Amino acid sequence: MELNLSPLNLPSDNVRPLVIAGPCSAETEEQVMNTAMQLAGKGCHMFRAGVWKPRTKPGGFEGNGEIALPWMAAVKEETGMLIATEVATPEHVELALKYGIDILWVGARTTANPFAVQSLADALKGVDVPVLVKNPVNPDLELWIGALQRINQAGIKRMGAIHRGFSSYEKKLYRNMPMWQIPIELHRRMPGLPILCDPSHISGRRDLIAPLCQQAMDIGMDGLIVESHCEPDKAWSDASQQVTPDVLDYILSMLIIRDAVDLTTSLATLRKQIDEIDNELIDLLARRMGISREIGMYKKEHGLTVVQTKRYSEILDKRAAQGALKGIESDCIKKIFESIHEESVRQQINLISK
Ligand code: PEP
Ligand code: MN
Repeated sequence: MELNLSPLNLPSDNVRPLVIAGPCSAETEEQVMNTAMQLAGKGCHMFRAGVWKPRTKPGGFEGNGEIALPWMAAVKEETGMLIATEVATPEHVELALKYGIDILWVGARTTANPFAVQSLADALKGVDVPVLVKNPVNPDLELWIGALQRINQAGIKRMGAIHRGFSSYEKKLYRNMPMWQIPIELHRRMPGLPILCDPSHISGRRDLIAPLCQQAMDIGMDGLIVESHCEPDKAWSDASQQVTPDVLDYILSMLIIRDAVDLTTSLATLRKQIDEIDNELIDLLARRMGISREIGMYKKEHGLTVVQTKRYSEILDKRAAQGALKGIESDCIKKIFESIHEESVRQQINLISK
């Protein structure tokens, strides 16, 4: 089901993409205003700060709550920037609107819970405010779409999605894996919905913010939401991923923005898809080698020879025929499987000779 949308109508200029910047959390009145003044001085039009912070474990800084809302209102008053914060309950919605918050976002942990999203949707009935919905923490496109639909069905038409990456059990390079194919598929399903990238929560590390911003622009995303703090190392939450307003300005000034890049068909998108598939191919090959080593152990224990010629020629013939059915030259498939087999044999011999 398509969303019923009207344009987000958020400020951006011709030089830069739509950018929302500000600290992870609104910590103190001074930190909020100091960061905001610097960002405004760099030409930033939209200010973010978390007033209520959903923390994975108890004991972290959970946000100042309502007392931070007048600090946000003061930012709007002093700098003219629009102000944005995360809402997770109907009470947050009510308070945010009461203090004039211009843009609301739904956090990743909330998007993952349809009951919570529905209660937000109910609280938003009859209100005209832009709402941005972060992807759920888990890589579930339907859950993301479901949350967008619930908010939209409450009558919210100015909507956007935020891609902030997906958590995984194993910690890898990124704090949250980008899994670009998911926002790309979201765009294919809902072409009218703007998608912003949140490189801060994807990376968890400030040195990866710049390349992620560029990647988001290359594949044709509509904008960025980036964490920026006047003193990143002293931040009360997400310190390692925040950058100063100066650094953010430098990162944005270096961005190369190409015109009319479409998220589903841009060269960068297609290349990303190739990269993802190559990663899968390598994982599959590594799994295949693992099983091949187990076979090596079996052969060793049962006194069998490593190369079983009958099995080998069967594999080559079968794979070549399978490849041909999918439009790949059988010679090409044969070459690939010869190399794979060669490496398998090498690994088995290694094992057996130990
Ligand atoms: C945030 O934007 O500070 C935040 C808590 O993000 P997420 O919901 O993506 O974890
Ligand atoms: Mn954060």
